[in-house]
Amino acid sequence: MTDIFNSFFRGFEPPVTGITGSPLDRADHLRRDPEQVQQMQASATARWLVLDSLKPVVTDDDRLFWATADDLPEAAPMVFLGLDSDGAPRFAASASAIPLLARHGGRVIDARSAAMLMPPGQAAILAQARSLLDWHARHGHCAVCGAATAPTKAGYCRQCPACGAEHFPRTDPVVIMLAIKGDHALVGRQPGFPPRMFSALAGFVEPGESLEEAVAREIFEEAGIRTGRVRYLASQPWPFPSSLMIACLAEALGHEIALDTEELEEARWVSKDEVRAALAGEGAWLAPPPMAIAHTLLASWAKG
Ligand SMILES: [Zn+2]
Repeated sequence: MTDIFNSFFRGFEPPVTGITGSPLDRADHLRRDPEQVQQMQASATARWLVLDSLKPVVTDDDRLFWATADDLPEAAPMVFLGLDSDGAPRFAASASAIPLLARHGGRVIDARSAAMLMPPGQAAILAQARSLLDWHARHGHCAVCGAATAPTKAGYCRQCPACGAEHFPRTDPVVIMLAIKGDHALVGRQPGFPPRMFSALAGFVEPGESLEEAVAREIFEEAGIRTGRVRYLASQPWPFPSSLMIACLAEALGHEIALDTEELEEARWVSKDEVRAALAGEGAWLAPPPMAIAHTLLASWAKG
């Protein structure tokens, strides 16, 4: 049995992706008991990550700033993030950063910029906090009956007191993929990209669709390329606001590009040498930054 298992994974090295590797233990079992949550909040070791309009407070060297209970207004919406490696409870709260900055220094920074500046594990904590707090801010009312809902389970559920419905934070799956034809991969440019940047094609998975079907549909819709076999590579959260990026490689069956100009302003086949140059910042075009899984996807393909 072990031999079969080992041979299945032989040669498989999962790539390191940005915005992953949170050091926190999410400790789901602690979320269910409101008394236990209160005890954790009252603990002297409890710390809060404060997001002001979904922007984190960071230290002067661009790390997450952890506030104490004294730094927070009483009624700030909050969620339990998990336990640190020493067992200390960590929370995130939505609050004005002004008193915090006056007391401790630091600064408020756009979450996407913060994630780029931080080690992946810190960015992963920020992703969890941002997606959850954003979900609470936008789901104050029951989608069934319209009544005001209240957070439960330490922020992992909202319950409707009128009809009893429970609502859970959503994660939206997005496939992001390279179509591969021989030794070339297909990259595209969306109109909103920074100048000269090309990336893997991507799109939301639709209801009733498998990942493989979403990969094939998106590549055909955006670039007119039919694909065959699909392989999963890796995934990462993308908390703007709540996507899960699922990186795949797809075998292209043709190479004639027919562009959907609503989605892409250009698509092109690129070689491994071109991709390596782009990743190094020395190419004719720019690759996405290391925190984006498109970077990981391009790097994994180009090294093989
Ligand atoms: Zn309801």
